[in-house]
Amino acid sequence: GHEQRFDYIVVGGGTSGLVVANRLSELKNVSVAVIEAGGSVYNNVNVTNPNGYGLAFGSEIDWAYETVDQTYAGGKPQTLRAGKALGGTSTINGLAYTRAQDVQIDAWEQVGNKGWNWNELFKYYLKSEGVEAPTEQQVADGVTYNPEFHGTTGPLKVGWKSELVNSTVTDLVKDTWSNLGVQHNRDIAGGDMTGFNVFPSTLDTQLNVREDAARAYYFPYQNRTNYNVFLNTEAKKLVWAEDEAGEAVASGVEVVSSNGQTRTIHANKEVILSAGALMSSVLLELSGVGNPDILKAAGVPSKVELKSVGESLQDQTNNEYTGTATKSFDGTSVFVAYPNVEDILKNQTAAVALDVKKKLAKYSQETSKNSVDSVISTELVSSAFDVQYDLIFKHKVPLAEVLVTPSDTSFTVEFWSLLPFSRGNIHITSANSSSAKINPNYFQLDWDATEQVGTAKLIREFFQTAPLNQYFAGETSPGYDVIPKNATDSQWADWIKSGYRSNFHPVGTTSMLPKERGGVVDTNLKVYGTKNVRVVDAGVLPFQVCGHLVSTLYAVAEKAADIIKASA
Ligand code: FAD
Repeated sequence: GHEQRFDYIVVGGGTSGLVVANRLSELKNVSVAVIEAGGSVYNNVNVTNPNGYGLAFGSEIDWAYETVDQTYAGGKPQTLRAGKALGGTSTINGLAYTRAQDVQIDAWEQVGNKGWNWNELFKYYLKSEGVEAPTEQQVADGVTYNPEFHGTTGPLKVGWKSELVNSTVTDLVKDTWSNLGVQHNRDIAGGDMTGFNVFPSTLDTQLNVREDAARAYYFPYQNRTNYNVFLNTEAKKLVWAEDEAGEAVASGVEVVSSNGQTRTIHANKEVILSAGALMSSVLLELSGVGNPDILKAAGVPSKVELKSVGESLQDQTNNEYTGTATKSFDGTSVFVAYPNVEDILKNQTAAVALDVKKKLAKYSQETSKNSVDSVISTELVSSAFDVQYDLIFKHKVPLAEVLVTPSDTSFTVEFWSLLPFSRGNIHITSANSSSAKINPNYFQLDWDATEQVGTAKLIREFFQTAPLNQYFAGETSPGYDVIPKNATDSQWADWIKSGYRSNFHPVGTTSMLPKERGGVVDTNLKVYGTKNVRVVDAGVLPFQVCGHLVSTLYAVAEKAADIIKASA
């Protein structure tokens, strides 16, 4: 067949990849190819139904990556869900659109990423967003919003779910949080997320269908002849040309189609890896970019020595609390509470802060030992942990997300720690992506349980607090038989660790950081030691963020596209 050649190849047509491909294909004189392992889910009702959360889990569009047994949390593995489809994980996620706390994006710059701060990223949150203002009815039902925090002309449709209509419960939940010190926040999109809010979704409110990355950044533009998408096509590794000035030069990508045929798609200018936080680092290793010891053991020839690839994996953990109600609530809603450390630990905060401070050195040593050959040194971990400590205890960014969902006569509460300290890694063990061993080390460091236990106790208190307590009929999980009123924190921690799941927010495996600080990509998202390979996806976030990830990833990818255009 004829040779396939494009200026830019984007590997992974997911949340971030389609933003980059779309913006590059705005340039009429360049050609762009997207290589996507999954297919189109435009007509898949498990995707389009905005209330169909979970329907796609375990189906053919869920990668369902397995971790290794989790030593510090009951010895069991966890399933990390991720979308295998055009649109990536945005096609199976929970649609929540919440951003980050301003100081935590400023921290990216503080650790050496010049030009990456909240004010800069804020422009790109707005650029990506096309918000649909709440209706009068939704405002009557408790939606509040500040237009200055939102973009109206971006490709990504954002809006509030119609089920808000006739909701009677918003004020009950809001006032109960308020009585616990978690105050109403009019709009959490402007850099301060703490408090209670009725949050928007990635949603096409006109059609009432999920707004995923493909609906936002591909389908309306699919007639552009320079925007090419290869579906059901899996990237195997990068193909290299001769080095230039000591840097590795990618000349294309080896791919395999669904019929099993292997071929190379050629890149004139650049290859952008957007295969997600769990696969972009794997593709780098399969291409010889990584720790030479790991590559050797896997039988992959080394091309660029970059030992930090696949390290610094950070995820969050999620638990469920349930109870019953004395009456039926119609019109379920989308509320979020973002309590900070003082809301959760109350008068224990100062003592816990001191305790954690004392433990940081030990935490750093243990975490450094997790990284292969201790390539992320104790000093490096320690400097990252100092930043996180300050975010938690000094800046008091949100520490947990709590989603209270009343439906019929029950309450379901999902909650997760936003800033655990534990870190792990992902590395290949053979020349095949499926050999990758994923280890987030959930709950390795005891702060992570402290954080989640504190939130669980706060939720129990929430249902004992007015005005909602008058409608609370009893706790079903954990239940007072399992966790009695005077239970110790260690009893609570056992319950947390025996029933948690991943929160599906892995970041950090290809961190944007100075090379000497354990970075994989520089501030232009270019992989160290390469001339023309970038990573643009959740893996480049050097730290966890307090909001759900997609809003921030769309913004990061928008900025990345501008950077790539400027360097062309
Ligand atoms: P992805 O969107 O995962 O894109 C990676 C793409 O690369 C995929 O399309 C994949 O198929 C493709 N790919 C991988 N390997 C290859 C290969 N070898 N060759 C070719 N293609 C490949 N975030 C929110 O903001 N709100 C939420 O409510 C929310 N809920 C979530 C619920 C679940 C169940 C999950 C799993 C995540 C949730 N998240 C949520 C997180 C968020 O959706 C993800 O962090 C985000 O979509 C990741 O974007 P990405 O660009 O990094 O990767």
